[in-house]
Amino acid sequence: MSQADIQTATLSNGNSLKVHTQLFINNKFVPGNGPLIETINPVNEEVICKVHSANEKDVDAAVEAANVAFKNVWSKLPAAQRGRYLNILADLMERDKDELATLEALDNGKSFVVARDVDITDAIGCFRYFAGWADKIHGHTIETTYDKMCYTRHEPIGTVAAITPWNYSVMMPAWKLAPALAAGNTIILKTSEVTPLAMLKVAELIVEAGFPAGVVNIITGYGHTAGAHLTGHHGVHKMAFTGSTETGRRVMDGSAKSNIKKVQLELGGKSAQLVMKDADLQNAAVQSCGGIFNNHGQSCNAGSRILVHEDVHDKFLELFIAEAKKIKVGDPFDPEVTQGPQINKAQFEKILSYIDIGKNEGAKLVHGGRRLGNKGYFIEPTVFTGCNNNMRVMREEIFGPVVAIATFKTTEEAIEIANDSDYGLAGGVYTTDIDTGIIVSNSLEAGTIWVNCYDVFDQSTPFGGYKQSGFGKELGLDSLKEYSHIKSVKIQLVSRL
Ligand code: NAD
Repeated sequence: MSQADIQTATLSNGNSLKVHTQLFINNKFVPGNGPLIETINPVNEEVICKVHSANEKDVDAAVEAANVAFKNVWSKLPAAQRGRYLNILADLMERDKDELATLEALDNGKSFVVARDVDITDAIGCFRYFAGWADKIHGHTIETTYDKMCYTRHEPIGTVAAITPWNYSVMMPAWKLAPALAAGNTIILKTSEVTPLAMLKVAELIVEAGFPAGVVNIITGYGHTAGAHLTGHHGVHKMAFTGSTETGRRVMDGSAKSNIKKVQLELGGKSAQLVMKDADLQNAAVQSCGGIFNNHGQSCNAGSRILVHEDVHDKFLELFIAEAKKIKVGDPFDPEVTQGPQINKAQFEKILSYIDIGKNEGAKLVHGGRRLGNKGYFIEPTVFTGCNNNMRVMREEIFGPVVAIATFKTTEEAIEIANDSDYGLAGGVYTTDIDTGIIVSNSLEAGTIWVNCYDVFDQSTPFGGYKQSGFGKELGLDSLKEYSHIKSVKIQLVSRL
């Protein structure tokens, strides 16, 4: 560790900790040749530290390292050994869980308790889950005609580039690193320029876990420079991207214009939660409230539209607002706090402008709607009712703690409103009737549907979008195929010619 790499960051409670600030290439922290990036604490709007950024030359070095490691080391290792490395990394993350959660809370503003018990815990589980798969990836044999046979092989693609957002800055990388490595690929991760710190700590643990140099490279840098160069790079064989739909289009375009690399896109959403007439309203209120306000509304799958049967609207609203009132907004290191600040000034202003848009469109503001305090990017959980699908607050991704509630008369109408969206990431249905639960789930055009719950994740279940929410699956067995080529080997039995 060079001294230029390590800096001291100060928390809002006055405590301090050491952070890495350089690029991680070939198992070493090295300076970047791009401009330094200021990473801001969203609690107090102060600079935490300055982090290096990669320019094209640095990206080329990371791609070279990943390609050499793939060819010389990683592709030659027994599959079980790949799994062992992933398990060791998971153990080290478990050991350093509090430090990782502290970095995530500091850089992102989410509650330390949530960062530890949700984000870091999920990432550790993800590494363990895919560690178990590493030596269980195989093709199958297909008998064709009496004189021929075919077997398939699941082969690694080579060098993967992952580009991730700021809202889950450890989980989103883990969802890509773990299956990519288990399937035998090497990887370059470009973290979000907004939240680079926690994954640089993971880089340190990758060295400690004993991963061969070049297998995992983690670069910090801007999207339009480092991200775009990775996307268009001929030495990269697959893009795994999570971020906005707008950037996803650029990633697809750059990938198509270079070497037609395999692409997987996890993009934005405007997911609907449907509260049916027969729902357990107390459960619906609790679940749907978490469904929108978890992570300060900064989740791709946030259930930001709630469609309620008109007969139960008033009772549901009363219960929902009672739940929203329980959310304590404040400093992420206060153990009572579940909602910290929004990520940055741009998002903060965008969310407040959407609250004005909602009011001007005629939606009724029934809870929240204001900034909290005069320092930091805190916004009250905000509830609009009387919404309809022509309103921008019903159609556009706000990515903040703002929910738009509308009513419906029939199940068919509810499904029609829910599906009238460019997005299709997730959805929810609250009902006590199993038939309704299944029929609505099957009718919603979205990649994940939760019934009587919301925002429940598990490493073993696939996640990914329909429509402009992207394509490709993360997590679960299905995600391994995203990181593999399937080869068919067809054999003529010469003795039967
Ligand atoms: P973003 O699209 O602005 O940035 C995401 C990443 O892309 C960052 O690392 C950024 O540096 C990089 N990038 C930007 N321009 C690029 C370019 N031209 N070429 C290559 N890379 C580029 O998104 P964000 O603001 O960081 O995150 C919020 C968005 O992410 C929301 O729309 C949210 O819905 C989405 N998201 C989706 C999922 C999912 O699983 N579907 C999960 C989390 C977040």
